Amino acid sequence: MTGNPFDQIRIVLVNTTHPGNIGAAARALKNMGLSRLYLVAPKEFPADKAVWRSAGAVDVLDNAIVVETLDEAIADCALVVGTSARERRIPWPLVTPRECGDRVWSEAQSHRVAILFGREDRGLVNEELQKCQYHVHIPANPDYSSLNMAAAVQVICYEIRMSHLNELSGKPLQFNDWDQPPAPAQDLEFYYQHLEETLIELQFLSETNPRQTMTRLRRLFNRVRLDQMELSILRGMLTSIQNYIFYSKKRMEKEARQTPNT
Ligand code: SAH
Repeated sequence: MTGNPFDQIRIVLVNTTHPGNIGAAARALKNMGLSRLYLVAPKEFPADKAVWRSAGAVDVLDNAIVVETLDEAIADCALVVGTSARERRIPWPLVTPRECGDRVWSEAQSHRVAILFGREDRGLVNEELQKCQYHVHIPANPDYSSLNMAAAVQVICYEIRMSHLNELSGKPLQFNDWDQPPAPAQDLEFYYQHLEETLIELQFLSETNPRQTMTRLRRLFNRVRLDQMELSILRGMLTSIQNYIFYSKKRMEKEARQTPNT
């Protein structure tokens, strides 16, 4: 199954006592681009307090799905992650919030994912945590590690968003969106030869001992991904420099001829 990965991720709040926390969680979801909220047997919902705390995210509350049991909330999810404010007796595969964000984002490309948040007073019970493939713990102050439930939702949803943004920024430069085609390898080679020649004429490079300069310059230009227009501007600049050197030499030779030997 494919689709918008944001729609494949659901945040499940289990037995929430305070409706204000449900509203704050809805806001946290929407801020991070998520929208699927599931409420397992909430104590008080719908509630005005939830609407107030949701600020502009009433749509997330309106579309929240209320179910009686956790099993109903996660039935069609192929990955279930449970959040926990403390270490549990039986160790379970544990991920950091960042790893959780990456895993949830990547799996949401192909299937539905649920992240569970527990009750304000006692979190998720063991039976609920054992339905999860992974547990995630926000590494807060060890002496005071329990966050407000909606604040924990915010942290986890933020990491999902970061994973999404990292994926976007890690994508190679899209030349489809560029106004000029990229410079082909052969033109780059001609440019490097031209550059080396010019740098030697300028006596910036020594022909007999060029060292690593050209390698470093190649690396620099490869990082930049020159387009054809940029490359031809650079070639034009090199030609102007060469002309300048050529005519300067001629002028100096002429002046040397005109100056009588003393
Ligand atoms: N006294 C409870 C704390 C519940 S806090 C307990 O010890 O479990 C309510 C919910 O907020 C938790 O069930 C969890 O979903 C989330 N939460 C709070 N702090 C968290 C943390 N440090 N890491 C991950 N989730 C946390």
